[in-house]
Amino acid sequence: MSELQEYGGKATMEKITSLAKRRGFVFQSSEIYGGQNGAWDYGPLGIELKNRIAGAWWKEMTRLHDNIAGLDAAILMHPRTWEASWHVENCTDPLVYCKKCKSRFRADMIPEENLSAKKCPDCGGELTDTRKFNLMFKSHIGPAEDTASVIYLRPETAQGIYVNYKNIIQSNRMKIPFGIAQIGKAFRNEIVTKNFIFRTCEFEQMEMQYFVKPGTDEEWFNEWRRQRWAYYKKLGVKMDHLRWHQHGKDELAHYAKDAYDIEYLFPMGWRELEGVHNRTDYDLGRHAQFSGKDMQYIDQDNNNERYIPYIIETSAGLTRNVLMILCDAYDEEQVAEKGNAGTEGSADDWRTVLRFHPDLAPVTAAILPLMKKDGLAEMAQDIRKELQDDYATDYDQSGAIGRRYRRQDEAGTPFCITVDYQSKEDGTVTLRFRDSMEQVRVPRAELAVRLRQEIKSYKRIK
Ligand code: ATP
Repeated sequence: MSELQEYGGKATMEKITSLAKRRGFVFQSSEIYGGQNGAWDYGPLGIELKNRIAGAWWKEMTRLHDNIAGLDAAILMHPRTWEASWHVENCTDPLVYCKKCKSRFRADMIPEENLSAKKCPDCGGELTDTRKFNLMFKSHIGPAEDTASVIYLRPETAQGIYVNYKNIIQSNRMKIPFGIAQIGKAFRNEIVTKNFIFRTCEFEQMEMQYFVKPGTDEEWFNEWRRQRWAYYKKLGVKMDHLRWHQHGKDELAHYAKDAYDIEYLFPMGWRELEGVHNRTDYDLGRHAQFSGKDMQYIDQDNNNERYIPYIIETSAGLTRNVLMILCDAYDEEQVAEKGNAGTEGSADDWRTVLRFHPDLAPVTAAILPLMKKDGLAEMAQDIRKELQDDYATDYDQSGAIGRRYRRQDEAGTPFCITVDYQSKEDGTVTLRFRDSMEQVRVPRAELAVRLRQEIKSYKRIK
């Protein structure tokens, strides 16, 4: 079975990219100039979705753990950091390019037969030898462009955590085991950027580094694998679209004792979403060596025993998670198949719907007056004001109500609140559910509480 057959979902990268643009999730960077490769802009719905995904991760990793602290380290770091981390020497991908069509490829991503025959997979032209290509963006800081002022854009957020590990032990009186979590931008001069926001030169990571006593590392590694898997389940992700991939000996990074990726079945196939790595004492050991500072942990509860902690890392792409959530939520269905088709559509009516978990949806509730006139718009605006302190809301009064529901379905809004003539008489409104398209009447005064209950008890039906 091919990966695409196996996928079974209705999303394609073309559909996702075009919906993302049409509805203001993601735009191409600098589009009016023809676009900037490897960079994307998050529009009004996209930034809300990205913030919600980041918020869910942050809550999971910090608020729900009393021994994990947050950090926001600078993107620009002392250049010695990247020598210590081995990135200057080794943050490289194998590059080949075609002498005829000039296409560039990552040698590890093209078929072996093309590589050995030195034959371009696109045009059949001759490929160059493989050479190492450093992925770090290099710039200069200060007015003089000499080597003393070289600066790099960080290719991962992790190093900002390692260099602050002692600060956080001291400021927060942390005791091993403990973790430090961070969300932030990272930059890699990727040889090939494709598949929309999957692989970009500017992206965001959500990383947590967990510091443990050597000898307990395997146990913690397994525990973090368990927790990260459970997290995606909690978010309502299709679990048959997730799988583990253990790094083989030839894949393991130089620092890693063991590594597993959580892979997601994207429309283009199974791809890495997040990595869980046992990084040993490599990172802190190298920083001790390069900075001359003592990076040992002193265990005051254990006769001041000293050791360099092992690090278990969970490293997820935030922007890659945005793509995953968009693909996972994407659905198309024929409305007439539903029981209440009479109220919503005709036999040829199809809808595109993003079935986001309500905790992640950019808009939680849209308030829609059936008509603009007769005081319905004013009442709907009032309801919006009552809800907007607690919920992300939208207001839409233009067009037929069915068309407005479709627009909200496409934005992934889980609840629509419709104000009609009956609302004026008895103070009730219609609460319409995105997934089932069912409608119930709810007293206006109970809306806020009802929404809270619906969000808490949300279960994905498809
Ligand atoms: P690859 O081998 O695919 O280039 P990697 O294995 O080096 O990636 P890591 O360094 O482990 O990736 O990065 C951790 C996470 O950061 C990845 O699981 C991914 O979600 C995200 N990530 C890495 N590179 C990119 C990128 N260029 N664009 C978007 N997200 C990225």
